[in-house]
Amino acid sequence: MHIRVDIKRNDTVKVIAGRDKGKQGRVLRVFPAKGKVLVDHVMTVKKHVRPNPQRNIKGGIAEQESPIAISNVMVVCPTCGPSRVGHEIQGEKRIRICRKCNGPLDK
Ligand SMILES: [Zn+2]
Repeated sequence: MHIRVDIKRNDTVKVIAGRDKGKQGRVLRVFPAKGKVLVDHVMTVKKHVRPNPQRNIKGGIAEQESPIAISNVMVVCPTCGPSRVGHEIQGEKRIRICRKCNGPLDK
């Protein structure tokens, strides 16, 4: 199964399904082969961390993100909010556009 990945690192996405539905965050990593993305403060799991004074880690419980399915998030357009991603050819570049306002999603 091939999934076209329209999400890039540093995009702002909104969660539209699953446990963290409604949350919004910045994409930290994209895993195209798995069809998943890692989003800041989304799908966090609590992890016990051992203290490590050499690396200045205090220990205790830390929150860590786990990847979420790309189908459960939508890219947030700066003008209209969560929207579907379209594509447009500009010169030799293929850029991503918002399907609602046709505004560019890439800077
Ligand atoms: Zn838009």
